[in-house]
Amino acid sequence: MRRKLVIGNWKMHGSNLLVQELLGSLKVGLDEAGNVEVGVCPTTLHLAAASETLIGSQIKLGAQNANAHTSGAFTGEVAAEMLPEYGVSYCLVGHSERRELFLEDDTQVAEKFASLQKAGLTPVLCVGESLDQREQESTEQVILAQVEAVLDKVGVQAFVNAVIAYEPIWAIGTGMTATPAQAQAVHELIRQHVAARDVGVAKNLRIIYGGSVKSSNAAELFGQADIDGGLVGGASLSAEEFIVICKSADSK
Ligand code: PEP
Repeated sequence: MRRKLVIGNWKMHGSNLLVQELLGSLKVGLDEAGNVEVGVCPTTLHLAAASETLIGSQIKLGAQNANAHTSGAFTGEVAAEMLPEYGVSYCLVGHSERRELFLEDDTQVAEKFASLQKAGLTPVLCVGESLDQREQESTEQVILAQVEAVLDKVGVQAFVNAVIAYEPIWAIGTGMTATPAQAQAVHELIRQHVAARDVGVAKNLRIIYGGSVKSSNAAELFGQADIDGGLVGGASLSAEEFIVICKSADSK
C-alpha cells in the first residue's frame, strides 16, 4: 500500500516570518493528519530556518532545485550534497518552470535526479505537457519521453526511492485543474510504463498530481486509483488551505 504524500512548493515566496508563522500553524494543524506524509519546499535561503522550525515535527523538508555538480565554480548554485545538512529529504527536479524559464532539458534533469539520489535525497521528478501538446494529442508521447529520459540514465531500480509528480503545465498556477479522470489516465500511463521495466517498482512508486490543487478538489483527485497525493503550489502558502488538502489525502 502506497502512503499518500502531499508536498507544498512555495516557489519564490517567503521570509523568515512566513517560515515561522506558516510552519508553526502546519505543525499544530497537521498533528492529526493521519497516515499522510507531508513535505514543504521553501526557497533554498529559507531551508535552515525551516529546518529549525520543524524540529520535533513529522513534516519533512524539500528543496526546489539543486545543481548536479558536487562543488566548483558555479556561482549562485547549491549542490545536492549540501542539502542533507539542513535536514532536507526531497528535492524537486524537472519542474516545468525550471524547464521553461531556465531551459533545463531532459539530460540535465536526469543528471540532477542522479546527483540527488547520490546525495541520499528523494527526487521528485516533475513531468507535464503544455496545452498545445494536449490539444495536439501528444500528451502520452511527451510524458513518456520525460520519464524515459530519466529511466534510461538511472535505471528502474532508482525509482524505488523517488516520486513522480504529474503536473500538466496548463494547470499550474492557472486555476484550471485536470479533471480527476484526465489526471488518473496519465498517472496510470506512467505506472504502466514503469511496470514494463519492473512491476514491483511500479506498484510501490508514488505518483502525485500537481496543478491548481485546492481544498475543494483535492479529495476527488486523491481518491483516484493511481494518484498518491499532490504537489501543491499556490494553495500551500495558506495554512488553512494546505491543512485541508493534506487531510483530504488521508484514507483516500
Ligand atoms: C506547482 O508549482 O508545482 C504547482 C502545482 O502550482 P499550483 O498548485 O499553484 O498550480
